[in-house]
Amino acid sequence: MAIEEHARGLAAWVDHWATQVLEVGSTCALGGDAAWDAILREHGVTPLPPAERQRHIQEGARRTKGALPIEVRWVIEAVYKRAREAARAMDLRVDTPAEQQLIDGIEKRLVNLVDETTREHLQRVTPPANTTASIFANARATTPNYSALGAAAGMSQMKCKSCGAPRKSTEEIGACGYCGGPIV
Ligand SMILES: [Zn+2]
Repeated sequence: MAIEEHARGLAAWVDHWATQVLEVGSTCALGGDAAWDAILREHGVTPLPPAERQRHIQEGARRTKGALPIEVRWVIEAVYKRAREAARAMDLRVDTPAEQQLIDGIEKRLVNLVDETTREHLQRVTPPANTTASIFANARATTPNYSALGAAAGMSQMKCKSCGAPRKSTEEIGACGYCGGPIV
């Protein structure tokens, strides 16, 4: 099969999974359901154990639906890694400028795939803030639900700027535990 055909197949595969992750991830039951778990399985991602999922729901930003941001990041990272590997292998066998252009297009899309998808997911599962009712909903969504345990463990008022989850003041290096986003 010509590289061109492979490349078009790969581009379609990336589109398919980016769409699926967003559609299923943002509409499934809070913390995931069977359809979401099937996507994780498909990409070899181990879901958080039930107790951990529950902890993320309790301690993370308040939402009413959708998969946990950290699992969204893990699964789109898995999509990214497979696609990146396939694109690299094709890149080595390119014969024509048209083929090169296709591969370059895929590689360009992959650069921001993980961050764009997690950001889009958070937008879809966070209530809008332009009505009185949603202002209250949004306040709930962005106000951390401090559990007695969390407070005792040193939860501060700091919040992740990406997902709104509370953050321990000592967590100044690395990624947010709830969405995997960078510390900003
Ligand atoms: Zn976060």
